[in-house]
Amino acid sequence: MHGSVILLGPPGAGKGTQATRLSEVSGRVILSTGDLLRAAVANDTELGRAAKGFMDAGELVPDNLILGLIGAHLATLDPNQGILFDGFPRTIPQAEALTTLCQIEMVLCIEVIDDAIVERIVGRRMDPQTGEIYHLVHKPAPPSVTDRLIQRRDDTEETVRTRLSTYHEQTAPLVDYFSSLGLLRCVDGGQDIDQVHADLITAMTDE
Ligand code: ADP
Repeated sequence: MHGSVILLGPPGAGKGTQATRLSEVSGRVILSTGDLLRAAVANDTELGRAAKGFMDAGELVPDNLILGLIGAHLATLDPNQGILFDGFPRTIPQAEALTTLCQIEMVLCIEVIDDAIVERIVGRRMDPQTGEIYHLVHKPAPPSVTDRLIQRRDDTEETVRTRLSTYHEQTAPLVDYFSSLGLLRCVDGGQDIDQVHADLITAMTDE
C-alpha cells in the first residue's frame, strides 16, 4: 500500500506551489486531481467532458468520477512510491475511500482566510510555456512573458466565491475528520511562500 501525505486547504491556499517544493525535498510523487482533470478537459476525454461543467461552475466533480481517476493513477505507480495528494480528498466519502487505498501518514492543512484567497486567485496568471504561476500585484511576470500569460477559466471572482462556499460546505469537514484520526498538522498559509514551506517541513518532520 502506498504511503501518502495529504495537502488540505481552500482553493488558492498555495497547495500546488507547496506540493512542487515538498515533492522535490521528499521524493514523493504529486497526485493533483485538479491538474489531472484539467488535462482530461484539454484532451477532450470522456472524463473531461463529464467534469468540465462542474469545474467551470466552481462545484465539485462527482465522487465516483474522482475515485475512478485516482484508482487508475494509483494502479500505474510502484506500490513503494510515496504520494503527495493535492486537492484530494475533498469530501468525506473520498477520504473514506482513500483510507482503503493508501496508508495516510499525515494531513498537512494550509490555513488562509477567505478575503486573502479571493485577492490571490483573481490576480493569478500562468505562463503556459513554463507552467510558472504569477500574480498581477504580488509576483508580476517579466515583460518578455506578459503577452502570453493565461488565466484559469475558473479563476474569476464569481467562481472563486462559489469554490470557497463549496470548500466550506464539503471539504472543511475533513479537518475534524482527520483531526479525530490524529493525522492533522496545520500551518499558517498567510505567510510568504518560503515561510509556509519551512513550516510545512517542520510539520512533516515533527514526531
Ligand atoms: P483549487 O484548489 O484552486 O480550487 P484545483 O485545481 O484543485 O483548484 O481544482 C479545480 C476544480 O477541479 C475544482 O473546483 C473541482 O471542480 C475539481 N476538482 C479537483 N479535485 C477534486 C476532487 N478531489 N473532488 C471533486 N472535484 C475536484
